[in-house]
Amino acid sequence: MQARLLLAERMASVGTLAAGVAHEINNPLAYLTANLAFAREELNALLSNWMDALDPRAAGAVADAQSALAEAQQGAERVRTIVRDLKTFSRVDSADNTDVDVRQVLESTLNLATTEIRHRARLVKQFDAVPPVRANESRLGQVFLNLLVNAAQAIPGGAPDRHEIRVATRVGPHGRVVVEVTDTGVGIASEHLPRLFDPFFTTKEPGVGTGLGLSICHSLVASLAGEIHVESEPGRGSTFRVVLPASKPAEAPAQAPPPATPSGER
Ligand code: ADP
Ligand code: MG
Repeated sequence: MQARLLLAERMASVGTLAAGVAHEINNPLAYLTANLAFAREELNALLSNWMDALDPRAAGAVADAQSALAEAQQGAERVRTIVRDLKTFSRVDSADNTDVDVRQVLESTLNLATTEIRHRARLVKQFDAVPPVRANESRLGQVFLNLLVNAAQAIPGGAPDRHEIRVATRVGPHGRVVVEVTDTGVGIASEHLPRLFDPFFTTKEPGVGTGLGLSICHSLVASLAGEIHVESEPGRGSTFRVVLPASKPAEAPAQAPPPATPSGER
């Protein structure tokens, strides 16, 4: 069961990292391939126009450079294939943000992690109706998966009837969408709170924790103009709260005026 939790976490982290890496590599790669092609054309032109005028040793060097460039191009082509596969694997071409129902994303994420959670705690779902958010479904799933894996890992095994993981959705201030993951696990020491979202901050054994989960959550949520907060009491448990702006309606409803009072800010 620990192994499956680890796998789930690794999938979530790797997917996001892969997406980040693919994105970062794309631009320099395009630059690289364009310049390789240019250099090769120049050499071709040099060879075909000036072959007779060239010293044979110089011609040999140019031919060597040509085949070196051809190999470099093949290498760049392989890198391009790898980057394309990484993007497919992590399914985050950043353009594919859509209107996403967070409850649906939570349900599928819980499906991934449900066995592991049930070994540690009762799962309580408290899903109020919420408006859609503009996001990439699989990225958002990775955020929730990271939080759920952390919640499960914070709960000592062996007493699932004495522990609870609660997942809740509700509409918060300014109509924003609030998702909370609450556990009754070990909690977080106050001196750790300021470093919690730092990359590589972990209190877990090497090999169990990478310390990347929350930093990835933080940057993903920030990229959606959202926020992530934590409240914790050592020995009692923790709550991680993700707040996301509701997606703007595509077209303003013609007749329906906005409600006069905001409904139930919590
Ligand atoms: P990792 O899980 O690999 O250690 P994370 O970035 O996901 O890395 O979390 C960083 C640290 O934050 C954890 O090592 C742990 O100390 C603390 N933490 C995160 N979530 C919880 C939680 N629900 N309960 C207690 N501690 C937590
Ligand atoms: Mg983690």
